[in-house]
Amino acid sequence: MTGTRVLVLNSGSSSLKYQLLDMRDSSRLAAGLVERIGEQTSRLKHTPLAAGGDAREADGPIADHDAALKAVAQELARDGLGLDSPDLAAIGHRVVHGGMFFTQPTVIDDAVIAEIERLIPVAPLHNPANLTGIRTARALRPDLPQVAVFDTAFHTTMPESAARYAIDPRIADRHRIRRYGFHGTSHAYVSRATAELLGKAPEDVNVIVLHLGNGASASAVRGGRCVDTSMGLTPLEGLVMGTRSGDMDPAVIFHLARVGGMSMDEIDTLLNKRSGLFGLCGDNDMREIRRRIDEGDEAAALAFDIYVHRLKKYIGAYYAVLGTVDAVAFTAGVGENAAPVREAAVAGLEGLGLAVDPGRNAVRGDRPRIVSPDSARVAVAVVPTDEELEIATQTYALVGKNT
Ligand code: ADP
Repeated sequence: MTGTRVLVLNSGSSSLKYQLLDMRDSSRLAAGLVERIGEQTSRLKHTPLAAGGDAREADGPIADHDAALKAVAQELARDGLGLDSPDLAAIGHRVVHGGMFFTQPTVIDDAVIAEIERLIPVAPLHNPANLTGIRTARALRPDLPQVAVFDTAFHTTMPESAARYAIDPRIADRHRIRRYGFHGTSHAYVSRATAELLGKAPEDVNVIVLHLGNGASASAVRGGRCVDTSMGLTPLEGLVMGTRSGDMDPAVIFHLARVGGMSMDEIDTLLNKRSGLFGLCGDNDMREIRRRIDEGDEAAALAFDIYVHRLKKYIGAYYAVLGTVDAVAFTAGVGENAAPVREAAVAGLEGLGLAVDPGRNAVRGDRPRIVSPDSARVAVAVVPTDEELEIATQTYALVGKNT
């Protein structure tokens, strides 16, 4: 392997996010996003980080992912970072669902593509989009190693007691129903970075990671290995999220169908897109919710309380799963920025050794930091996640090993 650059691609159904990194120092050379692929109003936003220039935006129809990646390649070439460069060592792809099969990052070949395809029934929204990105990138650089990094992989270490639902295992196995968990790349990165922040090896610490973005999930990580996580068969289970309900009595679904006369598709849309904070108060952005609370808005205050109550329950549950806890780490958009959420989530948990120091908690920053008082038994930490860096690191390590 001669190159030191890795291109990370995160391909959604109508979007393509990318970053180009130099693995010698993990620096970011360029980053960008193509939105609304397939529409008349597509937009490419490219930031030439290494060149230090302003972001460039281009509007106009981009028909498909193939055209999107070619447009990205052109932008990179303008910065002298073309995808035909020998400096490019590999392309790393985020793949949402790797099922039970993919426990590690994997070099992509036809058999790997076929397996990702076989998982489409359990990830109907995400895996087809991820596959489109993979096919497009392979067509553009067939000679280059391409690596799939799976959101589910970090969670494949969960014991059966955490991964199984309490249903007939024959039915579960026939339909591949079990708890897979998601956001694994972030949970892996943040749990390791938290150990580093504590000055310890990952094997020596137990961490509860709270990834609170638009989607949100918690995980219990013992000695660097995930032993439980809050998302399940799909990313709908667990915490209250921006637009998803999280945990609910499954009988609510029967009730909505039988008594409410709703179709399965309508219920799916209700629980995934019109619930959570948005369903409760009409806003899914925590900044807006805090602003409304400050103005005395009751619906926003109740939505916040429901969100925090669920979060607190998961902290307690994972404390019990782990037995001893060294740190609770908050990450992603809400976890990194919303001090009131952190404060409310651990309020009253002094008996468990958990507290935040108001002064430390109020400080903003983009570095990992501890926000609990020095006297606290358990560190409460804010650890910014970096999924792209984690995908690039795993990709580069794997390609280095194979050449
Ligand atoms: P995604 O799941 O889309 O990757 P992010 O991790 O970027 O999400 O988180 C996005 C969410 O983070 C926003 O919807 C918003 O609720 C929250 N957020 C971002 N910045 C702030 C802030 N300064 N204060 C409170 N919440 C914030």
